[in-house]
Amino acid sequence: MIEDKNQERTSLAQLGEFGLIRHLTQYFKSAQATTVKAVGDDAAVLQVTDQQMVVTTDLLVEGVHFDLSYMPLKHLGYKAVMVNLSDVYAMNATATQITVSMAVSNRFSLEALEELYAGIQLACQTYNVDLIGGDTTSSTKGMLLSVTAIGTAKKEDIVYRNGAKETDLIVVTGDLGAAYLGLQVLEREKQVFSVDPKNQPDLDNYTYLIERQLKPEARKDISGLLKELDVTPTAMIDISDGLSSEVMHLCEQSEKGCKIYEDKLPLDPQVISACEEFNLDSTMVALSGGEDYELLFTVPIADFDKIKANPNFSIIGHVTEKSQGMNLVTRANQEIELKAQGWNAMKE
Ligand code: ADP
Ligand code: MG
Repeated sequence: MIEDKNQERTSLAQLGEFGLIRHLTQYFKSAQATTVKAVGDDAAVLQVTDQQMVVTTDLLVEGVHFDLSYMPLKHLGYKAVMVNLSDVYAMNATATQITVSMAVSNRFSLEALEELYAGIQLACQTYNVDLIGGDTTSSTKGMLLSVTAIGTAKKEDIVYRNGAKETDLIVVTGDLGAAYLGLQVLEREKQVFSVDPKNQPDLDNYTYLIERQLKPEARKDISGLLKELDVTPTAMIDISDGLSSEVMHLCEQSEKGCKIYEDKLPLDPQVISACEEFNLDSTMVALSGGEDYELLFTVPIADFDKIKANPNFSIIGHVTEKSQGMNLVTRANQEIELKAQGWNAMKE
C-alpha cells in the first residue's frame, strides 16, 4: 500500500528532546507581522492588535482519528493543521499562528517525524501561518498530535453559529461525502493488503475521494469570496462531523428550525459511483459522512442572486422558525426529521 518502507532510522533517543525540537523546527520561518517570538523560548510572543483573536484546538489520537497504515505521516501533519484552520475560517477570521504538541512512542524514528513536520510546514506555507511553539513528550504506545490555531478578525467580521434568522438561505461550499468514501476505499484496500500484500490496488476511480480523505484543504478562500460578493453570513460553522450534525448545531444555537432539500446536496460524480459500489445511500453519506472541512453558513434571502450563480456555493435549504423543527425534504417531497448521526453511526 502507500506505506513508506523507510530505510533510514535514527532513534529519537540519540537527539534528546531539545535536539529533536530544534531539528524539526529549524526550517520554519515566521511570516506574520504579529509573530514576535516563535519557537525557542519559554513561551511564544504575539503582538496584540486592535483586532479580536480566535483560538481553537484539536487533539488527534492514533487508532481513533487516524490509521498510519494508510495515512502517510506527511499527510497526517498537513491534515492536523487543516482541521484547525478550518475552525478559524468558520469564524470568518484569518489564521495566523499554530502550535503543535505531540506524544510519540519509540516506534517513531527521527525520519518519521521529519515527514510529519514536512506536512506541517507545507500547510504553514500554503496557508500563511507561523509555527510558534508546542510541546514534545513520549508516549508508551502510538502517537497523539494536538494542534492549536490562532487567528484574528475585526470584531464586526466575526461570524458566530448563533446568528441565523428565519427565511435565511442555508449554503454549503464545495461538495460533501467524498472524504468518508475515501476512508471506505482505504479501509477496504487495507483488508485486501492484509490478505495478499502483493496485490496492487487500482485506485484510479477513487482519486478525488482519497485526496479528500488524505489531503483535505480548509476553505481559506471563502471569507474573501464573500467579501467580494458583498455578502455577510449571519451564522457559520465548519463541516467536520457531517452536514446533519453541523446544521443542527447552527439551528440549535440560533434557536431556529430548517428545511434541507435532498436534491440540493452537492455530490461529486465519484461520490455517486462509489456509493453504488459500496451499496451506500449518497444522501446518508452527504449528511453523516464527516471530515469534509467545507463551510456551512446562512445568508439573508436578499443575497440569493449573489450566491446562486457561484460554483463554490450550493443553496441547500432555508431557515424556519424553531417550532417547525429541523427537517430533510426528500426527493419524494416527504419531510423527515434530521438526525445527527456523525460518521461513527454509519459503521453500524
Ligand atoms: P518547556 O520545557 O518550557 O515546556 P520545551 O522544551 O517543551 O519548553 O519547548 C522549547 C521550545 O520549543 C518552546 O518554544 C516550545 O513551544 C517549542 N516546542 C516544543 N515542542 C514543540 C513541537 N513539537 N513543535 C514545535 N515547537 C515545539
Ligand atoms: Mg514543554
